[in-house]
Amino acid sequence: MAQKQRTKPTLDAAKLRENALTSIRLGVEDFERSQGGENPDPARALSSIRNLFAGVLLLFKYKIASSVDHPADAAALIFNPPEVLPSPDGDGGVTWQPVGRFRDTTIDVATIKKRFDAFDIEIDWDVIYKLQSCRNHLEHLHPAHTLGEVADFVAELFPILRDFIRDELEEEPAAILGEAWQIMLLHHDFVAEIKEECDEAWAEAGVPDGMYEWLETCKCSECASTLLKPDQENIDAGETVESDDTRFFAMCVKCGHRELIAPLLLEALGKAHSYDPRDGEEPTLERCIECDREAFVVEHQACLWCASELDYTECEDCGEALGQEDQDNDGRCSYHAYAYEKFMRED
Ligand SMILES: [Zn+2]
Ligand SMILES: [Zn+2]
Ligand SMILES: [Zn+2]
Repeated sequence: MAQKQRTKPTLDAAKLRENALTSIRLGVEDFERSQGGENPDPARALSSIRNLFAGVLLLFKYKIASSVDHPADAAALIFNPPEVLPSPDGDGGVTWQPVGRFRDTTIDVATIKKRFDAFDIEIDWDVIYKLQSCRNHLEHLHPAHTLGEVADFVAELFPILRDFIRDELEEEPAAILGEAWQIMLLHHDFVAEIKEECDEAWAEAGVPDGMYEWLETCKCSECASTLLKPDQENIDAGETVESDDTRFFAMCVKCGHRELIAPLLLEALGKAHSYDPRDGEEPTLERCIECDREAFVVEHQACLWCASELDYTECEDCGEALGQEDQDNDGRCSYHAYAYEKFMRED
């Protein structure tokens, strides 16, 4: 076993912690410069995401490393383990052996999650995955189009970091992150306040009940912020999203961009119902025959926009479930509608 010890990389947990905090501080600094003041610098938005993501992962690794007493165990948890391969034991059986040595790369998000699960450490992974996917697509993003998205991330990351630092590291975020923490805190509260204003305004905007939950997913097409508000002019004119969708606008609180809200809502719904016909999948969303919007959910046989449901839900001859396309057949499936018509003609 002496050889195995020798091949394990060593690990300096204090250094991990220091690098994590530096990275998060830099990320927040980049964030502030990307957004702020007289000369916002959109290019900084990208390095902000890069630094924040790296910092958060380092902090997670630090937690894992400091959950065990022995530095060798800490290293084994943080570095990618050797591959485990089967080898025949010459007697018709097989044994599984680690091959080679611990690699000099450290574990990724998926493995960090496995370590956390093993140590009963809970995190809102959805936010981390969102940050990760944004990080992975950085190269394809236009900096200006991510300003709002970065602002959302910093706000969403705040409670996660706060709870993690307090509950898991048992430290005070303000004490270890200094000014960066104050910036995050102010930004988070600011966003929470605007979000509440937006929610209250949408509640008065006559959004179809079935579409309401999709507001959450709508993003400004200019800056990708989710802080959208109904246009006050539409509200003042007594218009509603449901019946005046061709002229009901959303305003981006972040960048001031104004666009129709209905296409954003329907796009959000459509994305959740995307399917791949090449995999033999069937569409789960249809164009509604009543309101002509792509909002008819096949599973529920009802339209989320106009709430219309089917007049005929099953064939009166064979009991087969009927869809929108069968509604002209007076309650029969296409086969029995044809048979019935033929029978009537012969009569
Ligand atoms: Zn915007
Ligand atoms: Zn409809
Ligand atoms: Zn039938």
